[in-house]
Amino acid sequence: MENKSAAKLSLEQLENLNQAIRLTQKLRSSVSRVFHDLSDGIDNTKGNEKTFLSDIQKLIVSVTNDFSELEKVANNLNPILQTPNSANVCLDPAIDKLPVYSQLLQAYKWTNKTAEHAGAAAGILQMNTLKRSPLPGVSSGIKGIKRSRALPMPYNVPASVVDSLIAGLDRQFPDMGIAVTRPLGSCAIVQLTLERTLRALIVLRGCVIEWVKIKGYHENFLSDDGKIDIWSASRYQVFQKITDHASAASLHFYHPTYTELTVKSLVLWLRAYNTLFSAPCNKCGKHLQGALPPTWRDFRTLVPYHEGCKQ
Ligand SMILES: [Zn+2]
Repeated sequence: MENKSAAKLSLEQLENLNQAIRLTQKLRSSVSRVFHDLSDGIDNTKGNEKTFLSDIQKLIVSVTNDFSELEKVANNLNPILQTPNSANVCLDPAIDKLPVYSQLLQAYKWTNKTAEHAGAAAGILQMNTLKRSPLPGVSSGIKGIKRSRALPMPYNVPASVVDSLIAGLDRQFPDMGIAVTRPLGSCAIVQLTLERTLRALIVLRGCVIEWVKIKGYHENFLSDDGKIDIWSASRYQVFQKITDHASAASLHFYHPTYTELTVKSLVLWLRAYNTLFSAPCNKCGKHLQGALPPTWRDFRTLVPYHEGCKQ
């Protein structure tokens, strides 16, 4: 009902507006006729002065009538002209002076970041789904949920578990020196020494490998003030290359459920570098290629290859 009356009102107003425009045109034409006749002056051939004056008088009367008619209609138009929105027309903002662009940009970045984080979260949640349902169809049941709470996240493993894992590796590979420290709090820093060939530093968060760095046997992982330095790279190109390969290997061996296997696989793979300076490339049969020994070890077979010779 309200909408109908509003529509009716606006139609009425529209009609009034049309009428006002028509009356304005009528007034303009009658006024211009007065001025036109006055500017022509008295035509002696047609009649005398009195006729001319009475004609002008008639015209002026019609102007007055037209004007009063327009005035009446204009009074009805007042509510339209005083609508609240029309009063704000003069306050119309200059778009260049508003920070709309930067706000939009910020909103766009924020949305992008949210989408990115949501994607990452979905990935992690999916891993947990895998972990909590070792049997198909269990995840949907209540039993599956209960079981998932009992299993720890790979990041949230007690330090004793990590220590026993490293101790097991130490026993398994007596040719490697393995030491664990925790200068960064809960993260374990594992330092490996492979015969007289290389040193490796592995940062573990829980049982998940977060960082791998390889250096030469004569280098160390200490900064100038004697603290452990996990960031600085080896000054030898060969160990920089192996660092890159080791980072790739830690991703290759990564498994969301069997994180201990990831660490074991990486250590086993690193152990294959004990022939770094003695074994030739399995493909080209040469020791050096571009002044570098075979810096790549196959993930499955652990066979040495030059970086350019691997498949
Ligand atoms: Zn080769």
